[in-house]
Amino acid sequence: MVGIQDSNARWRTLLQEQYAREIQVLASSWPKQPGLNINFSDIQAWDPNFAKSLIEYPKPILRAATESLRALCAEGGWEIDPTLRVVELPHDCKKSLREVGSDEIDKLISSEVVVTKVSELKPRIYHAQFRCVLCTHITEVAQLNELELIEPVQCDDLNGGCGRSSGGKDGTRFELIHENVTLVDNQWIEIQELPENVTGGAQPARATILAEADLANVLLPGMRVTV
Ligand SMILES: [Zn+2]
Repeated sequence: MVGIQDSNARWRTLLQEQYAREIQVLASSWPKQPGLNINFSDIQAWDPNFAKSLIEYPKPILRAATESLRALCAEGGWEIDPTLRVVELPHDCKKSLREVGSDEIDKLISSEVVVTKVSELKPRIYHAQFRCVLCTHITEVAQLNELELIEPVQCDDLNGGCGRSSGGKDGTRFELIHENVTLVDNQWIEIQELPENVTGGAQPARATILAEADLANVLLPGMRVTV
């Protein structure tokens, strides 16, 4: 299996060898096209061991995928933040919602379900810029979740900042620059296992999932989807 620490290099090679053209197309149509979708079978054909690692350790390896894609875009002179998604998972990754238990958390799986409820679209901060109150240098921080705003820990002196840390006696403070936040749409979606998969008088299994960016606002109650 490919070590998690090597996955940045694997993605970089894969993207350079097979997706150079797609990345150019993506760069010219971003943010309308928010990311690059790669079929699982293409990864498997290219490197079966890497594909296997991806199933086992999806979180760090998918994070590395998006990081590598963004790094290549930056090197190409494109200031964009696309996301890399792996789509068309193999059949043995499909589970009924009922079977999704703690063993599957952190594994890459998909499940056929029916949508029962969708929440309102709610924007959340995706990228935020902060100004150092002492030297006015601006630092950008990617925001990974909606629960707390992540501020810079230090004013980046490698990029022209003053190098002071946040807080403390000799520290600085950071102000959020409200006009420069990038928002992404968020939507909570309630799903339920397919009625024909429920046996006897059992209650159908339910779950709530979070849809982000281009995945938000596409599902309606009653739709059958594979998630
Ligand atoms: Zn500063």
